[in-house]
Amino acid sequence: MVTAIGIMGGTFDPIHFGHLRAAEEVLQGFGLERVIFMPSGKPPHKPLSEVTDAEHRYMMTLLATVDHPHFEVSRIEIDRPGPSYTLDSLKELKKVFSSEKALYFITGLDAILEIHTWNGYRELFEIADFIAVTRPGYSMETLSSLEKAIGKECFSRIHPFPVTLLAISSRDIRRRVREGKSIRYLVPDPVMKYIEKERLYLSDAEKRVARSYSGGWLV
Ligand code: ATP
Ligand code: MG
Repeated sequence: MVTAIGIMGGTFDPIHFGHLRAAEEVLQGFGLERVIFMPSGKPPHKPLSEVTDAEHRYMMTLLATVDHPHFEVSRIEIDRPGPSYTLDSLKELKKVFSSEKALYFITGLDAILEIHTWNGYRELFEIADFIAVTRPGYSMETLSSLEKAIGKECFSRIHPFPVTLLAISSRDIRRRVREGKSIRYLVPDPVMKYIEKERLYLSDAEKRVARSYSGGWLV
């Protein structure tokens, strides 16, 4: 029997309830065997200086998913040198799972609208189907413009899927931390505590202050 696996790629800087809830609803809605979260090592579309160390992002993704029986985290993009092209990852995963598993790549509407800018995007559609989940600020109607850009055949492998709309973004979370505001209930508790402990998303000056308060000058 062919079973299906979901793969959710992202920078996860940090992972938040928008990602997690979307994955949960897709898992159930498509009857997937599991969802594999795949943090990008070096996101090709983001300046590296603006992206948090991959090991931190991996750790937060692990902390956020560890208690879910059908969520897993893959290190393949973190361990592979060079820019993290989804195409390379899907090829690797296809080999691991052979043809017994159908692969569904999960993205938000914002990400799918840029799919034609991804490296070798046509080949992506030969390996996986895409599930495009709704996200506040992006309407399903915007998808129709994509058909022109990528053609009927690729477009037919995109499955739009409405999920509970959560207006949460990693960028907004990073800003809140920088401004000293709470991020409770936007990310799972262990992720919030990890961000505090590792002093992520603070400016260098704020990191120095945080260290002096915690008596952590020696660590
Ligand atoms: P950033 O603000 O840094 O871009 P982000 O919140 O968009 O972060 P990403 O890691 O860039 O998170 O997103 C990974 C995937 O999850 C993308 O496909 C994105 O569209 C999707 N996604 C992110 N946030 C949500 C959300 N709130 N609801 C639905 N999908 C989301
Ligand atoms: Mg994003």
